[in-house]
Amino acid sequence: MAENNNQEKQFATKLIHFGSEIDETTGASSVPIYQASTFHHHDIFNPPTHDYSRSGNPTRQALEDYIALLEGGVRGFAFASGMAAISTAFLLFSTGDHVIVTEDVYGGTYRLLTTVLNRLGIESTFVDMTNFEAVKAALQPNTKAVFMETPSNPTLKITNIAEVTAWAQEHELITLLDNTFMTPYHQRPIELGVDIVLHSATKFLGGHSDVLAGLAVVRTEVLGKRLKQLQNGLGTVLGAQESWLLMRGMKTLQARMEHSEKSARKLAEWLDGRSDIVRVYYPGLKDHPGREIHEKQSKGYGAVVSFDVGDGDRAKAVLNAVKLPLVAVSLGAVESILSYPAMMSHAAMPREVRHERGISDGLLRYSVGLEDIDDLIADLDQALKG
Ligand SMILES: *Cc1c(COP(=O)(O)O)cnc(C)c1O
Repeated sequence: MAENNNQEKQFATKLIHFGSEIDETTGASSVPIYQASTFHHHDIFNPPTHDYSRSGNPTRQALEDYIALLEGGVRGFAFASGMAAISTAFLLFSTGDHVIVTEDVYGGTYRLLTTVLNRLGIESTFVDMTNFEAVKAALQPNTKAVFMETPSNPTLKITNIAEVTAWAQEHELITLLDNTFMTPYHQRPIELGVDIVLHSATKFLGGHSDVLAGLAVVRTEVLGKRLKQLQNGLGTVLGAQESWLLMRGMKTLQARMEHSEKSARKLAEWLDGRSDIVRVYYPGLKDHPGREIHEKQSKGYGAVVSFDVGDGDRAKAVLNAVKLPLVAVSLGAVESILSYPAMMSHAAMPREVRHERGISDGLLRYSVGLEDIDDLIADLDQALKG
């Protein structure tokens, strides 16, 4: 771990001064890309810090220390994708273990639990985590963990992190939280007692739709040792090039999030004021369920706005008529991204289950980028009128 006294600095300063921002050997203004798989032993009795890049690479290490600093944890880990991070973390558990998972968890996590981990005898119960009684009721003698995602995707439901975490600690459960939507700029779950924070860094952290990566940060050294063993054992690591590119993107996280959030608020309010929109989901709207809880545990509302245009035909017409946003899966980039959960991220979900969870055929999810918000609104306006 890089030594630094940056923990007391403000978040914006930490983003720039994270410990490895200057190369010690040459003074270079960015972390070198150590494109090497193995490291020479100059002295066999005194092995190098890094000996093989699966086990440790200086570029990846800089990124791992960076995310640990930002989340306020003791150790960070970088993986080949968000799913590689999540899969690796779930392998902390063994046959016969049970985990409680938020019902509107990311689709890939749902698939991992129900098609892979179930085969290994790791059992899961999906609950509505906005309902604390439901979380408590899911406890079994073999429960080992609780997996949260808040705000959830795509209807931005809010879980009370501190409440779930305090209860989990009483029962000696490990708590995990997918912090992809908020990023450590808005929400730092470790400060609320969460044990492992996970990220699809492909989204806001990378921020440019040009790198696939996952990150994890742990609250304790004990978990750090266990996750390190898994990362090395499974080989789910992030490469040096991607590690560098991700750090390059992360430096502007606050500037990007501030801009996008301000625009997202404006977009949500504009949509909310329209009579032809059935419903708008955004934690910053006055009537959003869980808004007060969200405000206690997060410093902002994020850049994702979901809204229901009424029916599938209208949703498709809007998707075909918009000219500015990318029409695609994913989120959290410099360019706005409009996605259609019913046919994209949640296509595999049975229609009834989808509808029960508010993921109607008319639901669109807008990830607001860095374009001028008035241009984005004008573009969406013409698409909605179309
Ligand atoms: C995209 C995403 C993931 C998966 O990350 P990949 O980098 O695509 O593997 C996990 N959780 C959330 C909330 C996501 O949006």
